[in-house]
Amino acid sequence: MIMKPKIVFASLAAAVAFASFASAQTRDAHPTFTVGSATASRGQTATGVIAVPAGSDAALNIAVAVVHGARPGPVLALVAGSHGTEYTSIIGLERLIGLVDPAQVSGTVIIVPLVNVPSFERVVPHLNPVDGKNMNRFYPGKADGTQTERASLLITRQVIEPADHVIDFHGGDLDESLRPYSYWTRSGNEKQDALSRGMVLAFGLDHIIISADRPKDPAASRYLENTATTRGKPSLTVEAGHAGTVETDDVMVLVNGSLSVMRHLKMLPGTVTPVQNPVWFDAVPSVTSDVSGIFYPLVRRGAFVTKGMKIGYVTDYIGKTIFEARAPADGVVLFIRAIPSSVKGDTLASVGTVAKTP
Ligand SMILES: [Zn+2]
Repeated sequence: MIMKPKIVFASLAAAVAFASFASAQTRDAHPTFTVGSATASRGQTATGVIAVPAGSDAALNIAVAVVHGARPGPVLALVAGSHGTEYTSIIGLERLIGLVDPAQVSGTVIIVPLVNVPSFERVVPHLNPVDGKNMNRFYPGKADGTQTERASLLITRQVIEPADHVIDFHGGDLDESLRPYSYWTRSGNEKQDALSRGMVLAFGLDHIIISADRPKDPAASRYLENTATTRGKPSLTVEAGHAGTVETDDVMVLVNGSLSVMRHLKMLPGTVTPVQNPVWFDAVPSVTSDVSGIFYPLVRRGAFVTKGMKIGYVTDYIGKTIFEARAPADGVVLFIRAIPSSVKGDTLASVGTVAKTP
């Protein structure tokens, strides 16, 4: 009789201790999620900016939305507009913010629709006009660099490092007539590559470039997606849209692909039908102009061409052909120059060479 209450007390204490241990185990690791000035609680979407401080050149604010799902799960970062005139991808991600209901989400979606604001505002393709740098070539970035490098560092730290997966969105720039495709990066890590392959197929684009030539060093990753890939995060790059246009089909390919990847990752309810029988490419040789002049294309994006086939030509402004662009390989024209302006060294077209299904 004397011992019994003690035993009850002891087992109660053990039960309390176990309950507190169990609650520590199930405690939400991320009751809130912050990127830049955006902090979202569970079940909320918050917006804000990633503030790149001034340095040797101007400061830059990059808008960000954080969709913090009602339940825990993977963190997916979606980034567009490193090239600020690849409009389709920028508009696709802005639209996606309103379409993802945080109440339905397990996990967190970080959405950055426009990295290269100066390019967008000043209508400058390919580069950041502030420092003349390509905003998808200076990762992981550095604090004492120019604006592109400082922005890249903050995206590495605040967007890529907190994420489990990254999708980098691109498209045909103002001077590129591009057919939609994605990149599947082969990192060499079989488990990681199987996961990213599943994401690429779930995204749904039916032309896929196998990318195996990106740097392997996380400290010299250069590209945004490669910064995630070299940090062990299964990721991909997608491209849709062309030549300054914003066509609904192209926008929706990116929006629906993003939602499909979220379902594939179990971040949203529903099933995914992965793309069937995509065309895989193992190389994308391009043809570069030797001269400056007026470019006339002879094929459209998506055309099948054979090696040596004339796919365009350049004239001297007064009717004489001074350069013939010939297909560098058998394959599919993934993009061809969309505008007559062309100078020596410009890429006139790129041709994907068809690979066996990996
Ligand atoms: Zn791009």
